[in-house]
Amino acid sequence: MTRSLLATCLLLAITLFANAQTKSIQPAAYLNYHLGWDGTSSLLKVSLDYTPATKDSTVFIYGDLKFGGQKEIFKVLQNIETTDKIKLTPTERKITVYHTDGGPKKISYTINGQLVGNPKRATLDELFRPLITPNLLYLVPQFFMINPVGHPAAAATIQWDSFPPGLPYFISTAAGTAPNVKQSIPLNKQQDVLILMGADLIIDTYKVHGIPYYAITSKADTLNNLKADLEPFFKDYFPGLRNFWKDDNAPYYYISVLPLLSIDKPWATGYSQKHGFVMRYSGKFDNNKKRVLAHETSHAWIGNSMQIGNDEFDNQWFGEGFNDYVTMINLVSSGIQDKAAFLDYVNNDNLLAHYSSKVKNAPNDSIAAKFWVDKNYQTLPYKRGFIYAFYFDNQIRLASGGKRSIRDFLLALFKINQQIHTANPTANLTLNDYIKTASRFIPEKKVRHQLQTNLIAGNALDFKKIKLISGFKIDYRDSIPVLMISRTTNLRKIYSK
Ligand SMILES: [Zn+2]
Repeated sequence: MTRSLLATCLLLAITLFANAQTKSIQPAAYLNYHLGWDGTSSLLKVSLDYTPATKDSTVFIYGDLKFGGQKEIFKVLQNIETTDKIKLTPTERKITVYHTDGGPKKISYTINGQLVGNPKRATLDELFRPLITPNLLYLVPQFFMINPVGHPAAAATIQWDSFPPGLPYFISTAAGTAPNVKQSIPLNKQQDVLILMGADLIIDTYKVHGIPYYAITSKADTLNNLKADLEPFFKDYFPGLRNFWKDDNAPYYYISVLPLLSIDKPWATGYSQKHGFVMRYSGKFDNNKKRVLAHETSHAWIGNSMQIGNDEFDNQWFGEGFNDYVTMINLVSSGIQDKAAFLDYVNNDNLLAHYSSKVKNAPNDSIAAKFWVDKNYQTLPYKRGFIYAFYFDNQIRLASGGKRSIRDFLLALFKINQQIHTANPTANLTLNDYIKTASRFIPEKKVRHQLQTNLIAGNALDFKKIKLISGFKIDYRDSIPVLMISRTTNLRKIYSK
């Protein structure tokens, strides 16, 4: 995809105008970050112009321990300079600057983004901290901003003072913008900022229903042809998702899919930002990685926009399992995965994995406590929710004589979710909203019973007693259900409505 070009003179005019505006209405409290990179070293030069947090001192806390477990992160911060007296407290990642007056201040430092190169920590070190190699600068904001405690400014500006000309550049808060355009970042949206620059980057632009979509990949990957691997997502999967949800409401969307540098074994990891998904991988970009990408980007609806309950752990059977089912049916309807891939995923990754799991009947409320310590619990809500969503879809299709499906239910729920958000942007769906909406498709008594028995109490479904749509059949091999789809059944057609 190619970056959209802005006319230089227009850009210059906007920059000058923006500068004039900033000068004339400089807010009382400000944090202005100036960045510099030479394009090849592992060092990012940062200087911060700021107003003191208090007349006597300003305390900065660098990094966020909750973001990717970065206990050693303070070592990344080097060459701290200021004209005021400072005290460093590395154990607390703290810089205290003692002021002698209340006037404008400056503190400068370098961020050392050299590759750590520990294969065991590849995910943590390459996804959640600055990585600056000769041809790639990868910055997440928590780790170039130094976060003054109790500072009244609600936003920080970012301005590139020096950078090599002509390098591919991406900033997630203003996709398509050049580095010489100053940005203002609300501090409560820091975690949605991603900055990328470097000769290795390939930035391609697509349009999905008129919305700009960006794919950021790297020339450093010589194993895959990622452009070819990703193209079906932009041509089929993302438009399919937007059709599925009847939702074209987004300013832009991006996926950053960059190779991991410290491991060779096949791996995939990533996290979602408000308008995009940041992924790192190693090895072949196979079906498994495509499913990860599809699952994560599908979370823009179930998971990010729609959540049942106020804690994301409460109803993960919905947040993860229903999302995974939506992912799979959209992969099929967009032609990225065929009947064989679908059956493989349903039978091996879900039915076999779930029905042979020793925690298959664990109650929903027992998952949160064991989620991070027991892999069986970690994957439980995904499989339980996926299998239930498959069953639920079949019930709706049977009850409506093939006229309606899980999509109609989800669209109805999405509408309620939008009404809730209009009234209160931070409010979420409740289990009652789920019951009320589902009862428009199957009898309320059934909805309540299944929710209680299969999703909350956690009893695995007994497919010997369950009827599926024509063409689908489940047999048992020992205690494991196995889905079969008749040869004449057109799966893509089924999932295209
Ligand atoms: Zn997920």
